[in-house]
Amino acid sequence: MPIVREINTRSIICRSRLPGIDFVLNPYRGCTHACAYCYVRNMPQFYEHNEQWGSFVDVKINAVQTLPRRLVFYHGKSLYLSSVTDPYQPIEKQYQLTRQLLERLLPVQPALSIQTKSSLVLRDLDLLRQFQDINVGFTIITTDEQLRQILEPGADTIQARIAALKTLKVNGFTTYIFIGPIMPYLTGWKEIIKATKAYTDYYYFDRLNTKGAIWQAIVAWLSRYYPRLLNNYGEIYRQGDRYWSTVGQAIRTFCQKESISAQALF
Ligand code: SF4
Repeated sequence: MPIVREINTRSIICRSRLPGIDFVLNPYRGCTHACAYCYVRNMPQFYEHNEQWGSFVDVKINAVQTLPRRLVFYHGKSLYLSSVTDPYQPIEKQYQLTRQLLERLLPVQPALSIQTKSSLVLRDLDLLRQFQDINVGFTIITTDEQLRQILEPGADTIQARIAALKTLKVNGFTTYIFIGPIMPYLTGWKEIIKATKAYTDYYYFDRLNTKGAIWQAIVAWLSRYYPRLLNNYGEIYRQGDRYWSTVGQAIRTFCQKESISAQALF
């Protein structure tokens, strides 16, 4: 059982530093999807948490009350859920914070982008289909369910994500797949494209973040599950951009050849 705390937040919509996104909305702090590669664990707001990453979630219990009064300001602005949590992680079933926030935002009609690893997003189809400018994406970094279980232990199965993606597409949504972070020697990005392209409008790719505590977490994970890859990852860490520019070029060449709309964020 995750450690759940109810906390108060001062503001729930924040300006974004992500390219092409005006604002971000994070209903929760922490995430019980517990991804081994999660870069969020490195952020200062988690320094006060001694618990293992993925074992806790803080619920911003006053989120709806802290929405700005002049919500109309967000009309047409791009709003992304979520940059440092998953808006449809399991606790959302109970608290429905994401749903309540979307209900309040519906009359305002921001340009909404939702990214998740959970089929729970389908619960809100009734609401989501009323947004005029919306896209919904799923993160998938492997088609291997055994690998998924050790890499993203708290998240939905790959099969559930692909089924949800299909449902969204059948319902007329613009959809995308975020293949990131690419885990060297483990992420079969061509297989992911093959498994999803019938229901996907475009793809994003991102490299593995190896800064600070994230690198330590990755090394610990590899030591436990893939010790044979430790040297290879060490070499990639040392090479830095050189390795990733080769991967980026391979992705661009492949997607161009296959007429797949894609952007490598590195
Ligand atoms: S779903 Fe996203 S925020 Fe949650 S643990 Fe995984 S990478 Fe981190």
